[in-house]
Amino acid sequence: MAQSKRAIVTGGTRGIGRAIVKELASRSCCGVLFSDVAFVYNSCEECVEEIRQEIKSPETRIFALKADASSYEDAEATVAEAIQKLGGVDILVNNAGITRDNLLLRMTPEEFDTVINVNLRSVYNYTRAVIRHMIKQRYGRIVNISSVVGLIGNPGQANYAASKAGIIGFTKSAAREFASRGITVNAVAPGFIDTEMTRQLNEKQRETLIQNIPLKRLGTPEDVARVVAFLCSDDAEYITGQVINVDGGMVMS
Ligand code: NAD
Repeated sequence: MAQSKRAIVTGGTRGIGRAIVKELASRSCCGVLFSDVAFVYNSCEECVEEIRQEIKSPETRIFALKADASSYEDAEATVAEAIQKLGGVDILVNNAGITRDNLLLRMTPEEFDTVINVNLRSVYNYTRAVIRHMIKQRYGRIVNISSVVGLIGNPGQANYAASKAGIIGFTKSAAREFASRGITVNAVAPGFIDTEMTRQLNEKQRETLIQNIPLKRLGTPEDVARVVAFLCSDDAEYITGQVINVDGGMVMS
């Protein structure tokens, strides 16, 4: 029987990360469930139990590991623990992310650095921590969650846009470095997805936003999770270094 894959997802307690954990854990492929999953979280203990309840399949193993994704030391320790619990690692999804919006004239160094550290530095931390294992087994799938804001910018989000554009450069460089080792590295750039992150918008802002989306709705976390799961699957073995937009048509290149 084929072995199921082993995945690490950062920021798995809610929103897009939670949908990714559920999608990877409940998809089946070649007669076996697609993946056992270890997800990294930094808050919301009750979410961990909710996720276990939501993934009812007894065959899937789910582990929750508490860590700050922006810490290199935490990443090394967390990945070591995840590998020990899962028995290895085949998939890494770098999803953890935050916003600290402010117009540049008012943006503090702390607001800039915090966003860069959680959104971009974490991608380096976790990629660095898994990559030797993936090289040794000559197999790996890495998917980094960027944003349309990293492609087109957004007033008040210079820190966030810089972190998300940085993820794209990182993805392409890593894809080139590891292609010969059987490891693919891709990015997904969501548009506006209905999560806690976008619930800060008022009704008027939401309506204006929707008018600018050709498919005329916000995305769902599941819209993103399905594309991530595809990029993690063997069906995507000839795709690397790409940025896949999941944005209802907002950005067309
Ligand atoms: P969310 O705020 O609902 O979830 C973010 C997750 O990251 C949470 O689980 C949180 O606990 C975790 N996290 C935050 N800081 C962390 C840290 N220091 N260490 C470990 N975990 C941490 O946001 P979301 O909308 O689900 O966003 C998920 C990803 O998708 C982010 O990278 C975000 O930038 C990106 N994204 C979101 C949208 C959107 O419209 N919601 C659009 C484009 C990109």
